[in-house]
Amino acid sequence: EFPAFSNGKNILEKLEQHGHSAYFVGGAVRDFLIGRPIGDIDITTSAKPEQVQDIFPKVIPVGIEHGTVIVRHEGESFEVTTFRVEEGYSDFRHPDEVEFVNDLEKDLARRDFTMNAIAMDKYGEVIDPYLGKSSIKEKMIRTVGTPSERFSEDPLRMLRALRFASQLDFQLESETFSALADGAEMIKEISIERITGELEKLFAGPFVSKGIGLLRRSNLVDCLPVFKGNRRLQKSLSQVKVPFCQLSELICMLVYWEQQVTISEWAKAWKLSNRTKKETEQLYEAISYSSEKQIDAWLVYQLPSHLLDSFIRLYTTYFSPVSRDYILSLNKALPIRQKRDLSVTGADLIEWFPERKKGPWINQALTSIEKLVVIGELPNQKNVLKEWVKHEYHPQSTD
Ligand code: ATP
Ligand code: MG
Repeated sequence: EFPAFSNGKNILEKLEQHGHSAYFVGGAVRDFLIGRPIGDIDITTSAKPEQVQDIFPKVIPVGIEHGTVIVRHEGESFEVTTFRVEEGYSDFRHPDEVEFVNDLEKDLARRDFTMNAIAMDKYGEVIDPYLGKSSIKEKMIRTVGTPSERFSEDPLRMLRALRFASQLDFQLESETFSALADGAEMIKEISIERITGELEKLFAGPFVSKGIGLLRRSNLVDCLPVFKGNRRLQKSLSQVKVPFCQLSELICMLVYWEQQVTISEWAKAWKLSNRTKKETEQLYEAISYSSEKQIDAWLVYQLPSHLLDSFIRLYTTYFSPVSRDYILSLNKALPIRQKRDLSVTGADLIEWFPERKKGPWINQALTSIEKLVVIGELPNQKNVLKEWVKHEYHPQSTD
C-alpha cells in the first residue's frame, strides 16, 4: 500500500476503465522510492488530452499543445500528460514537434534522469527500463541516454541536475558531470526565467553546499548572468551556510558580501519581479543596519512583518543568533506602528511655522520626529513634540 497516492489511484483506474493505460511518473515516484514526502503527482497516459477532458468533470487545460492537462479530484491536482516523444530542439525552447505515441517506454526515454524515468502502476509495481531504482539506491544522478546529447537537446537539464543534487544529496555520475562541465556554455540558450526557477530550487535545497560546489566545479556558475566573469562573486558563494528559502535572501547576502553588484543590477539581469526586488531591498536595508548597529526598535519598526522570518534566518546564520520572541517583544513595545500614528502632522508644522515656506523640510522634520518617537527618545505627545520641533526649527536656523 502507498497511501500518498491513494487519490491518484482513482485517476489511474478511471483512465483504465476507459481503455487507456496510465501510470504515476516523475518526481512523485522518485520521492516515494527515496522515502521523502512527495509533491505534485504526475500521471502519464495513453489517453489524449481531449479524452482526459471527456472522462473527468474538472479538467484545466494548462498545456494542451504539450499534451498536459490538470485533473482536479477531491481538492487535489494531478498533472496528466499524454505519452510523448519529442524531436528537434532547434530553438532550445519548445520541441518542434510533439508526437503522441502509445508507448510508455518511449515516454520514459525522453525524460531527463534515470531517477525521473520510472513509472509506477496502481498496484505500486514499477516499470523501470533505465534502472532508475538502482541510481536512487546509489544516490546517483545520470541522464537517460548519452549525457552530452541530452544536455544539448535541453541545456536546462544541466541546472536541473545540480538542483536535484542540492535537494536530494545525490552525486552526479561521472560521465554526466563531464558532459555538464563541457557543455556549461549552452546554458546561455535558456531564458533567464527558467534559469532563475531552477536556481531558486537549488539554493533552497537542504544540501545547498553540494549544489554550490557542483555549480563552481563544473564552471556552470561562470555562464550565469551577473556571476559571469566575476570570480569574487563566485567565490562568495562558498560563504553560504544554509539554504535560502527565498531568492530575496540569497541576493541580499550576495550584495552584502560583494557590494560592487547592486540589487538593481541583479533585478535587471535576473528579471526579478518588482515584489522580489522590493523585498530584497528591504531585507538588505535591515541586514546592513543591524549588522552595523544592533537590533533595535527602529529596525523592527521598519522591517515589514512578512520579512521577519527571512531576516531572522539571515541574521542568525551570518551574524548572531536572535530569537523571534525577542523581535516580537520589541515590536509589541513600539509606541507607533506608522508615520500616521504620530500626534503631529504636516499641517501642524505649517501652522507652527507660518513664516516658513512649504517644502521638503516638513517631511524631514516628520521623519526626525518619527525616529525619535520610535526609539523612545521623545514621547508621542503633541505638546512635547511641538516644543522639540519649535526648538529645532526656530526661525534663526536656516533651511
Ligand atoms: P519536483 O519534485 O521538483 O516537481 P520533478 O522531477 O517532478 O521534480 P518536474 O519539473 O515537475 O520535476 O517534471 C516532472 C517530470 O518531467 C520529471 O521528473 C521528468 O521526468 C520530466 N522532465 C521535466 N523537465 C524535463 C526536462 N527539461 N527534460 C526532460 N524531462 C523533463
Ligand atoms: Mg513535479
